[in-house]
Amino acid sequence: MAASFGPAPVKTLTVSPIPGSFGQGFPGLVYLSTVSYLRPEARPAYSKGAVQETFFSDILLAHEVAHQWWGNVVSPASDRDTWLMEALANYSALLYLEKRKGPKALEAVLADYRKRLLSQAAEGRTLESMGPIIWGSRLASSLAPDAWRTITYEKGSWVMHMLRGRLGDRRFLAMLGELLKRYRQSTLTTEEFRALAEQFSPPGSPDPKLETFFENWVYSTGIPALKLNFALRGKAPALKLSIAVQQSGVDDSFSAFVPVEVQVRGAKPATYWVRTDSDPVPITVPLKQAPLAVVLDPAGAVLAVKK
Ligand SMILES: [Zn+2]
Repeated sequence: MAASFGPAPVKTLTVSPIPGSFGQGFPGLVYLSTVSYLRPEARPAYSKGAVQETFFSDILLAHEVAHQWWGNVVSPASDRDTWLMEALANYSALLYLEKRKGPKALEAVLADYRKRLLSQAAEGRTLESMGPIIWGSRLASSLAPDAWRTITYEKGSWVMHMLRGRLGDRRFLAMLGELLKRYRQSTLTTEEFRALAEQFSPPGSPDPKLETFFENWVYSTGIPALKLNFALRGKAPALKLSIAVQQSGVDDSFSAFVPVEVQVRGAKPATYWVRTDSDPVPITVPLKQAPLAVVLDPAGAVLAVKK
């Protein structure tokens, strides 16, 4: 983390056990759940199973250590911006997990988060639909007491993962490093975070200011179900591939960009960012030969259900 994010606020870090299932990160001090100190087989029943084991063995300590930067070097400007610190701390822990255990370990955690976000809360609504992430602690209600935690930490991690997908690995990490340089010992708003990410958008990005991205994933709710449609017209070497992505299960105002990979023989696969819609407008790609495959979001870069 120091290599990616710059120096921590203090030079020493003390990690202390705290009875219970939680942790907390203060400058120079981390409270780590006593559960994390136990071997998995010696842990209490509520911490058993693959998902909880990953949490207590791999995520919790890294999450609290990451707060040395996210929360202690830079802090949220208001209650509507606190999600940034939890999302960045948790995604930093997931980056560390990915580095040690590989991309499949990260995928498994994100898939579990998606499952929980889509679980039924009250009145036939999903947990994720209880409110936008910027509502912070006001997401917790008698209807869905767990909504604050799940949306802040788990959807928050997905927001960072999707942003990484949009910027690319190198630009995403450079953006985080620059954030800590620019906002060191200062506060950060959601809009300042968007403006900084905008500066790291790759050239030719379909949503260069990331306004659509923030509008859909941060300022409102919705996890779409997506269906890929494509058709090939013409004759080689002047083929035309049209690609459209249909969404359902979200409001008509929802629209996200999702990557579609076109694989052709003897060349690197090309990725196109296609705008989803309930009534999608296809994009057209010229091709010299018929594609081997056209794949919707092959790396799981978007929080969605593939149909
Ligand atoms: Zn935290």
